Amino acid sequence: MSKITVPDLGEFKDVEVIDVLVKPGDKIEIDTPLITLETEKATMDVPATAAGTVKTVAIKKGDRVSKGSLILELEAEEGGETQVTAAAEAQDSAARSESPPPAPEAPQRPSAPATEEVRVAQPVARGSYDFDVVVLGAGPGGYTAAFRAADLGMKVGLIERWPQLGGVCLNVGCIPSKALLHAAKVIEDAKEMAEAGIKFTKPKIEVDKLREWKNKVVGRLTGGLSTLAKQRKVEVIRGTGKFVSPHEIEVTSEGGQQPRRVSFAQCIIAAGSESIRLPGLPDDPRIIDSTGALELDLPKRLLVIGGGIIGLEMATVYDALGVKVTVVELTDGLIPGCDRDLVRPLEKRISKRYEKILLGTKVTKLEPLKTGLRATFELVNKSGEAPKSEIFDRVLLAVGRTPNGKRINAEAAGVVVNERGFIPVDRQMRTNVQHIFAIGDIAGPPMLAHKASHEGKLAAEVAHGEKRAFDARVIPSVAYTDPEVAWVGLTETDARSKGIEYEKAVFPWSASGRSLSLGRDDGLTKLLFDKTTHRVVGGGIVGPNAGDLISEVALAIEMGCDAADIGLTIHPHPTLSETIAFAAEAFDGTLTDLYIPKRAAR
Ligand code: NAD
Repeated sequence: MSKITVPDLGEFKDVEVIDVLVKPGDKIEIDTPLITLETEKATMDVPATAAGTVKTVAIKKGDRVSKGSLILELEAEEGGETQVTAAAEAQDSAARSESPPPAPEAPQRPSAPATEEVRVAQPVARGSYDFDVVVLGAGPGGYTAAFRAADLGMKVGLIERWPQLGGVCLNVGCIPSKALLHAAKVIEDAKEMAEAGIKFTKPKIEVDKLREWKNKVVGRLTGGLSTLAKQRKVEVIRGTGKFVSPHEIEVTSEGGQQPRRVSFAQCIIAAGSESIRLPGLPDDPRIIDSTGALELDLPKRLLVIGGGIIGLEMATVYDALGVKVTVVELTDGLIPGCDRDLVRPLEKRISKRYEKILLGTKVTKLEPLKTGLRATFELVNKSGEAPKSEIFDRVLLAVGRTPNGKRINAEAAGVVVNERGFIPVDRQMRTNVQHIFAIGDIAGPPMLAHKASHEGKLAAEVAHGEKRAFDARVIPSVAYTDPEVAWVGLTETDARSKGIEYEKAVFPWSASGRSLSLGRDDGLTKLLFDKTTHRVVGGGIVGPNAGDLISEVALAIEMGCDAADIGLTIHPHPTLSETIAFAAEAFDGTLTDLYIPKRAAR
C-alpha cells in the first residue's frame, strides 16, 4: 500500500477540491489526474505519482487541502514506475515512426443508409430539368453549396423563404449575436479599465441605435450574398419549397402568387433547424427565443431557460446591457458536453454577475401575470437549491434546436427522414435517394454553421462528379461568452466515458504575459495527446479570443502534429497563441515559462 498526498502548492494553502476524478477500484497510472483544485488564480489537476489500484479515497468535493493532505491509498503496482518509464520510451519511438496519425472521434451523424464507400459520383444530366442543381435553403450550408456548384459550371437554383439570403446564422443567429457580444465586450472592457486607473462614466445605451447598428452589420453581409449570387448567375427563387416528386419542388411565396414548380437533376437539402419550444408553455409575447432576444426589448429581469451556447451568449449580452439575468439549466453543469475545467472560469465569472445560476433544475410552469411571468422551478435530482417560484419580465427559451426535416414533404421524393427530423446521409452527403443530398443542421449534429458550409462544398463537388467524401477529423465548437470557451476533437469527458487512454498538458493563462496585460488571468489552454503516438487528439481553450485560437489546435489534429511540432513552431510573443505552444512544451517537459517539477523532459 502506498499513499498519495497533495504536492507543494507553492504560495497556496487551504485550497478547495472542486472535483474528485477517481474512485476505489480504479486502476491508475503515473500522471492520471486524481483531483482538481481551484485557487483564486487557476484550477489545476493533481496527478498520480505512482501506479496501481485505488483502495480508498480520503477526499471529497468541497474539501480544502494543503501540501501533504492525504488524497488516496493505493495498492501499488510492482515496478510500476520502471514500467511507465519503459512505456514512455516506447511511446516516444512510436511517435517518431511513420505510423498514420490516430483518427479522433468522427463527428456525430445519424446512421447512414447508403454505402460508406467513396464513389466517383455519377452526375445526373440536366436533360429537360430546369436546373442541374437546386439547393433548398440559403443558410451558410445552402449558399456555399449553391455558389460552389455554380463555380463548377452547373446551372443552379437557390430556394429561400426569407427575403434575405444567409439563413439563421447571418440574419438571426451567429452574426447579429456576435455584433451584440462585441458591444457587450466594449462595455465590460471599459468598466474593467477602472482597475488600471482609467475611469469611464457609465455608458448611455441607446438601444434603438444599437439595434440599428446590429441590423446594418447583418445587412452588409446578406446584401453581399445577393451580389455574389448574381455574379455567379445563381437564380434565387423566393418562397417556401416542398418536394412534390423526386425531381421537383413546389415553391410558394407569401404574396399569393401561383406556386412555382422547379425541376432539378440533383438537389441539395439545406433547410436547417428551428428553436425548440417546450410543451405546455402559454402563448405569451414575453416568452422569446433567440430571434426575439436579438430584438433587444430590454427587461429588468430575464430568465434564460437552457445553459447551452445560445442561452449563455444571450445572457452575456443582456447582462452587459444592465439586465438582471437568471439562468436555469436542466443538467448539473453549464454547456453540457464541454469539459468542466473549461467551463469553470466562465461559471466563476458569471456566478458573481448574474442573479442566479440554477443547475440541475427545470421550469415546470410559466404563468402569465400582469406583473410578469411566474416561473415555477423543480430540482431534477433533489440536491442543490432552487427557489420555488419567481417572477421575471421576460423568459428566453434556449433549450436546443430541432431539424426541419419534417417540414419539406421529403416523402414525396422518397427521402428518409428519421423520427427526430434529421435526414440520414452517407459520407458523400447523399440521402437514400442517390441524386438528393442533405447538409448542415438537417443532416445531423453538431448544428454548427462551419460544419454546414464544409458539407455544402462537399455535396456540390460530389454532385459535380468528383470523388470526394467527408473526411474532416474534427469540428471545433465555440461559445462566444466572456470568457470564450472553445474545444475541438477528443474531450476528457468523452475519453473517460469511453475508456480512451490519453495524456494531457495544461497551460494556465495566469502565467501568460499577454493574458495578464489584457487584465485577465482566468484562462487556460489544454491539449490532449494520444497515449501511444503523442499526437494531438483534442484540445480546449477558455479565455478571451479562445474561439479564434482553437483553429490552431484543429489544424494540429488534422495534420497529425505531435507536441514537438507545436512547441517547436515559433509563436509570436506576446500573444495568446503562445499558450498553445506552452501547453505543448509542458507536455514535452521543455516549458520554461512555468515550473512543473514532476515532468522530466521527454
Ligand atoms: P444547446 O443544446 O447547446 O443547449 C441547450 C441547453 O438547454 C442544454 O444545456 C440543455 O441541457 C438545456 N435544456 C434542455 N431542456 C431544458 C429545460 N427544460 N430546462 C432547462 N434547461 C434545458 O442548444 P442551444 O444553445 O439552444 O443551441 C442550439 C444549437 O445551435 C446547438 O447545436 C448549438 O451548438 C448551436 N449554436 C452554436 C453557436 C456557436 O457556434 N457559437 C451559437 C448558437 C447556437
